[in-house]
Amino acid sequence: MIILTLNAGSSSLKFNVINMVTEASLADGIAERIGLAEGFVRWTIQGEKGRIELDMQDHKEALNAIMEKLHDTVLKGEDVAAVGHRVAHGGPNFGDPIVINQAILQEIEELAFYAPLHNPANAMGIKTAMAMFPKVPHVAVFDTAFHHSMPDYAYTYGLPYDLCKKLGLRRYGFHGTSHRFVADRTATLLGKPIEKLKIVTCHLGNGSSIAAVARGKSIDTSMGLTPLEGVIMGTRSGNVDPGVLITVMEKEGLDAKGMNAILQKQSGLLGISGISSDCREIETQWEAKTSDRARLTMEVLGYGVLKYIGAYAAAMDGIDCITFTAGIGENGPMLRSWICTRLANLFGIQIDEKINQARRKGDRLISTPDSRTAVAVIPTNEELAMARFASKFA
Ligand code: AMP
Repeated sequence: MIILTLNAGSSSLKFNVINMVTEASLADGIAERIGLAEGFVRWTIQGEKGRIELDMQDHKEALNAIMEKLHDTVLKGEDVAAVGHRVAHGGPNFGDPIVINQAILQEIEELAFYAPLHNPANAMGIKTAMAMFPKVPHVAVFDTAFHHSMPDYAYTYGLPYDLCKKLGLRRYGFHGTSHRFVADRTATLLGKPIEKLKIVTCHLGNGSSIAAVARGKSIDTSMGLTPLEGVIMGTRSGNVDPGVLITVMEKEGLDAKGMNAILQKQSGLLGISGISSDCREIETQWEAKTSDRARLTMEVLGYGVLKYIGAYAAAMDGIDCITFTAGIGENGPMLRSWICTRLANLFGIQIDEKINQARRKGDRLISTPDSRTAVAVIPTNEELAMARFASKFA
């Protein structure tokens, strides 16, 4: 059985083709700069990389270009059995993955209130794919879904209750598919049922979030109503005193749009370091001790993560494992080491630095066998998780 997964952004369309018998990715890639000049599609098909320059007016043209490439190669004589769509925000109602019909598509569009950049783009991808594959199930997988199990005291903000009800203001959390996937893999790695484990999953990438996963359920997470809350990210600020926003708006004469641009695009790793939003460049300078702002940036990130781990240990009354994932979590041994060293006494953590530093792929424990709390690195695979959900409806 072949499953196609799609992740539509406002000017991009990511795809993955997964063979569900082997769970191997046969092809993946992205169409970028849709609706703009200098568009292109790049892909890896059965290990071979390729790219074409192509201006695409809309997502339909992008999907056509992608499918043409796939029909000539991995989909020759094979049909797509179902399509899994990543949807950023499921709002208060959507939890489990769901087969999309017209009413659900409309609801996804209406949830643009919560995710103005993402949900309309996701809906556009869904419409395009439904027109191209009208006979197969299209399954929406919501980024917020895994966090539906949070108790009310974890998702309630300290704002007027009626205002929150009226506007749907609460913590929703994101990266749910990733947190669920790596928590499950952590249990497998530890050889224990997930129902017996308390895990803190640290998804550290361009966007970052931490989740407390108790007995397989998310009970708290660092992102909130929007993916701005929590630790510092590539260009997003993470937590700031709300009073700061009021001060900046007043002193700099900014409206909501101007303030939003600072919080979303000019803050985080880029804002503090002044070097880049890409962690690799900052990490290199941190390691080489060539920039004190690079050190500061990485320590602000590390300190933010370690405070969440401490808080979630309190929330779950202990932890069995800390799991790192995503671009920085999987590839940043220095940051993992910085965090774990500071937690050594509290959680009895002992890191095997040789394993931590080794440039390895795959699920691995980086703690020693006698570490009281385990520490794991698990590559996330949101596409496979989405494909598994979609295949259930095929
Ligand atoms: P993601 O959003 O999961 O793709 O993660 C992107 C982030 O991961 C960027 O900040 C990258 O700089 C970072 N990243 C990717 N590879 C590495 C690496 N080898 N070492 C450190 N950071 C990395």
